[in-house]
Amino acid sequence: MVPGPTNVPDRVMNAMLGSIINHRSQEFTDLYRSIQAGSQYAFQTKNEIVVLSASGTGGVDAAVGSILAPGDSVVVPGFGEFSTRLGEGARYVGANALIPQADLGTAPSLEDVESAMKSAGRPKALCVVYNETSTGVTWRKLKELKEIASKYGALFVVDAVSVLGGDELPVDRLGVDICIAGSQKCLAAPPGGVILSFSEDAKKAMSGVKPRTQSFDIPRYFKFAEHGETPFTPSLPIFFALDEAFKMIREEGIEKRIRRHAVCAKAFYSAFETLGLKAFADEKYRSNTVLGILYPKGVEDAKFRTLLSERFGILIAGGFGKMKGSMFRVGSMGVIDEILVTVTVSGISQALNQSGYRCDTSNALAAAWGVLRELSEA
Ligand code: PLP
Repeated sequence: MVPGPTNVPDRVMNAMLGSIINHRSQEFTDLYRSIQAGSQYAFQTKNEIVVLSASGTGGVDAAVGSILAPGDSVVVPGFGEFSTRLGEGARYVGANALIPQADLGTAPSLEDVESAMKSAGRPKALCVVYNETSTGVTWRKLKELKEIASKYGALFVVDAVSVLGGDELPVDRLGVDICIAGSQKCLAAPPGGVILSFSEDAKKAMSGVKPRTQSFDIPRYFKFAEHGETPFTPSLPIFFALDEAFKMIREEGIEKRIRRHAVCAKAFYSAFETLGLKAFADEKYRSNTVLGILYPKGVEDAKFRTLLSERFGILIAGGFGKMKGSMFRVGSMGVIDEILVTVTVSGISQALNQSGYRCDTSNALAAAWGVLRELSEA
């Protein structure tokens, strides 16, 4: 139950056992085309898709490296570890990244974003993290952020590594120029794959930028994609897994999947509240895929999580940076369902009691089930 890598269904794991095929063959072309179509469905886009054999950070590097030249200015609002890393990624390629910081547990105000865009002087892009995994905050202002980006003639880049497939993100409707999703989060595939979508505007912006690395030379990927290939040897087992994962997403339907995530997150929040725990994020920012919960006084992070893991078989994550030791994070991603919510709430409640914090497990489970029944309602 960590916020990625998440649980992977057997169907997806078994798909990786397929024979290693030639990546210059019709068989691979069929696989690549199938993954592209599956990605477009999940991203809700007609934009061009690129699949990289890399982790989420590789996708972030590829995105900023493909559109930013040294000296370009870019605005990257920071409100936690991954948004700050996105800004640092832009600095790695030599761009002048403005990273206005907001308090942890919140998201930046639109006024602050606008004033950063104003002071950036012809910013080439506005890059945002949609779901800040380090704090459990979802920035539900993508429409407004796109409007700000457009006002300044800037591209709109969204790091959706820990949320795509688990919350609303209609890429075309929102006008997202580059969207980045990680295989190991809400897509419920193993780590090692990252999928990016590129709008026509993003592709145009690349023509004036010299790729910084061969392996992330995105225009080269477009060229090879015309024939259903990747320029370099892809991680075939991950590609097999991604194809199966996208098939499962299609079978469930993206809307139903997003709703399942929303209901399970609501059940978690309701159960935790009943246990007397407080979410770190304000209600309006609360993530449906990563739940950041503050520890009650007296419960020690490392001891609690070791107990939960060893006694109850449940892995959750701790806090990041300044929040290390004061919160825990639960990933509610991919295959999340009634059973996982029930087992996790029950384990956390029992482990809290064994850590000296008195709380009532049956009340928490009743609160969770009060919400979970929405899953079986039409
Ligand atoms: N961006 C976000 C929002 C993330 O949550 C993560 C990882 O958790 C990353 C980027 C980096 O992904 P990876 O660890 O796969 O490189």
